Amino acid sequence: MAKAAQYRRVLLKISGEALMGDQDYGIDPKMVERIADDVAQVHALGVEICMVVGGGNIFRGMSGAASGIERATADYMGMLATVMNGLALQSACEHKGLHTRVVSAIPMQTVCEPYIRRRAIRHMEKGRVVIFVSGTGNPFFTTDTGAALRASEMGCDALLMGKQVDGVYDADPLRVEGAKRFDRLTYMDVLAKDLRVMDHAAISLARENKIPILVFSINEHGAFAEVVAGQGRYTIVTEEG
Ligand code: UDP
Repeated sequence: MAKAAQYRRVLLKISGEALMGDQDYGIDPKMVERIADDVAQVHALGVEICMVVGGGNIFRGMSGAASGIERATADYMGMLATVMNGLALQSACEHKGLHTRVVSAIPMQTVCEPYIRRRAIRHMEKGRVVIFVSGTGNPFFTTDTGAALRASEMGCDALLMGKQVDGVYDADPLRVEGAKRFDRLTYMDVLAKDLRVMDHAAISLARENKIPILVFSINEHGAFAEVVAGQGRYTIVTEEG
């Protein structure tokens, strides 16, 4: 179990896929509860937490566009999907006794709060977990870029990418046997080798703001707290590597 947190404030990015559990689509309540438990463990270490949640388990702009919906419209549909996921996470986090706020880049006052930077920071200072939804609020972007953007705006000390695997590999380890895993990488390595950590816009933003990216498996219960304490298995991406 984790001992002391290495970071004061972190952003956890969860893809929509992570919320599917074993299902092919949608939200698995058991998985959402489990992730909320991980968040509660890290909160108990005294770390300020915000999250960005994706929407790929419900709708992806690119797939919508491929089936004939105008790309920008499809992207807005994707952003709405992230709101559903955020609300599910909020409910699960509150079951664990956490105080939370869902904050949307697209104003939606009857459902959640609109994004106001200083207000979101204040929530975290008061110990609330802030769940950012609607990505950047703009089509043609991803929630990974939303994660790098919010981590920069919130002054986070680290951006944690909760993935399906325990770090960054040179190929998808779930498909390619013998894929090579990295413990440490530089932002430039990720860009030059086109490693699938997050998209280039997101990496560049994290690099510019000197935010370390830690990639770990969200499927492992307790891994979030271990990574925040500098333990467990993860790949860290920094300027020096
Ligand atoms: N999206 C967008 N702008 C953003 C963030 C997301 O248009 O700033 C849309 C885009 O269509 C994307 C969808 O929302 O496909 C769901 O987000 P994403 O694919 O990043 O979710 P994840 O892969 O993390 O589940």
